[in-house]
Amino acid sequence: MKVAVVGAGISGCLLTHFLGSEGIDVSVFEKSRGCGGRASTKQTDWGQCDIGATIVPAKKAQFRDFMQGLSKQNIVTKWPEKIFVSQPIANLQQPLENLVGDREYYVFNSKMNAPCRHWIKNARLHTNSLIGQIRYLDDKGWQLNLNGVWQAELFDKVVVTLPWPQSQALIAQSEWPLELPDYSQDWTSCWSIALKLQQVVASDIDLIYLKNHSIQTLVRDSGKPQRPSVFTSEAGENSEIWVIQLANKLSDDLGEQGKAKAIDIATKGLCELFDLPENSVTNTHAHYWRYARPSAGQKSLGIFSYHEYGIYVGGDWSFGASIESAYEAALTLSQSIITGE
Ligand SMILES: Cc1cc2nc3c(=O)[nH]c(=O)nc-3n(C[C@H](O)[C@H](O)[C@H](O)COP(=O)(O)OP(=O)(O)OC[C@H]3O[C@@H](n4cnc5c(N)ncnc54)[C@H](O)[C@@H]3O)c2cc1C
Repeated sequence: MKVAVVGAGISGCLLTHFLGSEGIDVSVFEKSRGCGGRASTKQTDWGQCDIGATIVPAKKAQFRDFMQGLSKQNIVTKWPEKIFVSQPIANLQQPLENLVGDREYYVFNSKMNAPCRHWIKNARLHTNSLIGQIRYLDDKGWQLNLNGVWQAELFDKVVVTLPWPQSQALIAQSEWPLELPDYSQDWTSCWSIALKLQQVVASDIDLIYLKNHSIQTLVRDSGKPQRPSVFTSEAGENSEIWVIQLANKLSDDLGEQGKAKAIDIATKGLCELFDLPENSVTNTHAHYWRYARPSAGQKSLGIFSYHEYGIYVGGDWSFGASIESAYEAALTLSQSIITGE
C-alpha cells in the first residue's frame, strides 16, 4: 500500500512512524524546508531556541505511556521539575505559585522538532513541496498537485494532516466532491521572542506562566535537556537563552509589524522579573505566529475517514490544540487506515 501524507508537523510525522511500523510505504509532503511544523526550533548564529511549542504536557494515560516509552529511548526527558504560575498581578515581582498539575511534563531532547526526523527516517520526505490540490483518478489512485504541477506518482491513500483552515481549503480546492463540515476556528497570534542573556539567571525558575499579563510564558530555553551550551566569551563565560511568548491579545494588537515593540516588552519583562539590567540582553530573535484554535467550549471534530476512496483528514484540531492532541490524531488516523474501520 502506498500512502501520501500531507504535512510534516507532529501529526504527520507520528502518523508516518505508526504506518511505517506496519510496513506501509509512506511519502511525506511538506511545504517548508524541514519538519516539525509548530514544534519549531530556530538555529541562529548565536544559539538555538525552540520558538514554537515550549513543553509537552501529557494528561491522558495512553499518551503518558507513550512519552514514558520515548523517555526510555532517550527521545524525551521530563522537564521542568517545577512550573511556576503567577495569578493576576500588577507586576512580575509578585510571589509565584508552583503549579501542582494533573499531568506530566516533557520536552523533546536536543530540540523540539528532533523526534520528527526520527519518526520519518524510513519514509520519503519531500520538503519545499506545497500541495495545492489533490484528485482521485478512478481505479488508479490519488494524484497530488505539488507547487502547481500534477505529479505522475499515484497513491492508494492520501492523508491530510494540516491545521483545520488549511485542511478545509485543500479539500475545497480538490477535484473531488468531499465536503468537510462548516466549522470555523478563531484566529489569533503569538509573538515568540528568544533573548540571549550574557549571564545565567540565578533562580530555580525554568518556566513561568503569567495570567492577565502582557507576557504569557517565560522559559529558560537553554536549560532544557541536551541543548548545546551557550557561551558569550572566549573565556567560556556561560550565557543563556530565554524564550518569552507574549499574550495572544497583545500579539493580535501589535500585529506582524510590531516586532520592535514585541522585543522591547519581552526584554523589559524578563529583566524586571529577575532584576537584571536591560543591557544583559545581547541578542534577540522574534517570530510572529498566526494560527487558528478552537473557540472556548467548542467541541473537537475527531478525524475524517473515507475508506471507500482512501482519503483521511486529521490534525491536532481533531482532539484539541496541543502536541498531545496531535498524537491522538496520528494514532487514530493510523488505526483507521490499517483496520479500514
Ligand atoms: C507559539 C506556540 C506555542 C505552542 N506551545 C505549545 C506547548 O507548549 N505545548 C503543546 O503541547 N502545544 C503547543 N502548541 C501547539 C502545538 O505546537 C501544536 O498543537 C502541534 O505542533 C500541531 O501539530 P500538527 O502536526 O497537527 O500541525 P502543524 O505543526 O501545524 O503541522 C502542519 C504542517 O503542514 C505544513 N503545511 C501546511 N500547509 C501545507 C500544504 N498545503 N502542503 C504541504 N505542507 C503544508 C506546515 O508547514 C506544517 O509543517 C503551541 C503552538 C504555538 C503556535
